[in-house]
Amino acid sequence: MNSTLLIRRDFVKVLAVAPLLYGAPSSAGAPKGWEEFWRQPRSLWLRRAGSSDELRAVYYMNGSLVSAGYEEICRFLRDVHTGEAVYMDPRLLDLLFVVHGYQISTASLAPIRVTNAYESKSTNRRLVASHGASKTSRHMSGQAVDIANPEVAGDALYRYMLWVGGGGVGHYPDTGHLHIDTGPRRTWVARRVRT
Ligand SMILES: [Zn+2]
Repeated sequence: MNSTLLIRRDFVKVLAVAPLLYGAPSSAGAPKGWEEFWRQPRSLWLRRAGSSDELRAVYYMNGSLVSAGYEEICRFLRDVHTGEAVYMDPRLLDLLFVVHGYQISTASLAPIRVTNAYESKSTNRRLVASHGASKTSRHMSGQAVDIANPEVAGDALYRYMLWVGGGGVGHYPDTGHLHIDTGPRRTWVARRVRT
């Protein structure tokens, strides 16, 4: 794979934020099984939209990140235009894990189709020019992912992610895309695809 090698020094930083992972939040009104959900090994089943590139990996188990699985996922979420990869915010992986939780609850478990994840500076510059993307996109800091899963109702998953409240959630009803990031809590519904 043509990904830029990940830098060990940065991984130490990632481990330092690991306690911020969602763990078992005692949020009032949490559905039955919420705590158990967070106690199980956390794995992701991902597919790059428009390709057969697919990955299943466990990234968190027994209270810590599983470095091999975590790094595999980070490489998978690379900028496909440049091949560059970075350490993704582990909390973003938790939000994708929540998407699996939603799929399981609606009997629609399937690979999460990733249409966009990490964006290098050069790719972002291109997207700013061609699609009016944000120059300060959280995709550039490994804190955002765009997904499109036609087998789940986009508006229902959107409302579910709002309830989870992990950061920013954007819904694009025309295409069924969801933008999910770990920035401040905020929400939007828009017609254009890019964020
Ligand atoms: Zn996005």
